Amino acid sequence: MVDLRSDTVTQPTAAMRAAMLAAPLGDDVFGGDPSVNALQEKIAGLLGFEAALFVPTGTQSNLCAILSHCQRGDEYLVGQMAHSYRWEGGGAAVFGSVQPQPLNHQPDGTLALADIEAAIKPDDAHFARTRLLALENTLGGKLLPFEYVQQATALASSRGLNRHLDGARLFNAAVAQAAQTGGNPLAEARRIAQCFDSVSVCFSKGLGAPVGSALCGSRDFIARAHRIRKMAGGGMRQAGVLAAAASHALDHHIHRLADDHALAQRMADGLAGIEGLQVEAPQTNIVFVDLTGTAREQSSALLKHLAGQGIQATGLYRLRFVTHLDVDAVGVDRAVAAIRQFFKQPAANHA
Ligand SMILES: *Cc1c(COP(=O)(O)O)cnc(C)c1O
Repeated sequence: MVDLRSDTVTQPTAAMRAAMLAAPLGDDVFGGDPSVNALQEKIAGLLGFEAALFVPTGTQSNLCAILSHCQRGDEYLVGQMAHSYRWEGGGAAVFGSVQPQPLNHQPDGTLALADIEAAIKPDDAHFARTRLLALENTLGGKLLPFEYVQQATALASSRGLNRHLDGARLFNAAVAQAAQTGGNPLAEARRIAQCFDSVSVCFSKGLGAPVGSALCGSRDFIARAHRIRKMAGGGMRQAGVLAAAASHALDHHIHRLADDHALAQRMADGLAGIEGLQVEAPQTNIVFVDLTGTAREQSSALLKHLAGQGIQATGLYRLRFVTHLDVDAVGVDRAVAAIRQFFKQPAANHA
């Protein structure tokens, strides 16, 4: 089985399971779970914030963030393709009466500064109050250029907006950014995070933990988020068993994200040159492949062919392959070979 649907599909490693078993536990609703408290301190410290909150999902983390930053009748500026706009059931609007103002993305995933500027509403009874800029990094596997992150967040704060980062894959961004700058991934993660008032990170994606995200921010902000987490039903009891997995992931699975990025590149290289396949050069661990021309009509047949060989991916005309802890070069090569075979192409030549 080569499961390339998402980096959420990983199984906890033996060492992670051992850490979970060994975790000291308490009731976190009483604030008494030492493993949850340790994780919250660790992630807050790592990213340079006063406090953090362990939450079951990234969706709940973004919801707590938006509702902590905004009141009813406020709005947040967000990308059309951002998870916190498009993929969360409209939660901020449904539960918080907070209106999203979606903006189109530029090809590199950024929101144009001029578009952000133009979307900030004047103080006028006709308009929702623009309160928050929400960015996502990585977005669709793309690393937002750091200079852009600085500019966009500086613009937001100069206009009195708070700034939230959906950093579900912040550590993928940090590892990719470190490869560019020659810096350290942890330092890069912190550098990105420090442009924002709040940051959400997922442990259940590339970091390989089974469950959980963390929201980071100031002590006051996290106190508000804590109340919202309670309302959302996210107060968990002996959650340390999960926090221990997340803690283990922070200690052992950040630097290895570079392996996932290399595998995504290997996959893209392997698929190069097949007629009808437009392979987007991956920047991190996600490979998008657009099917064009006659290949487009073969899309369902291709996915069936892959499934028949135990290879799973998502998409239809735009296929998505995500690399992670539980995929290796052999698996990626199998997926490439199966796709090449389907299009009757000779095997890829790995140097
Ligand atoms: C996965 C993801 C989330 C949160 O997903 P959950 O399934 O709710 O944990 C949020 N934002 C982004 C960008 C994501 O990729």
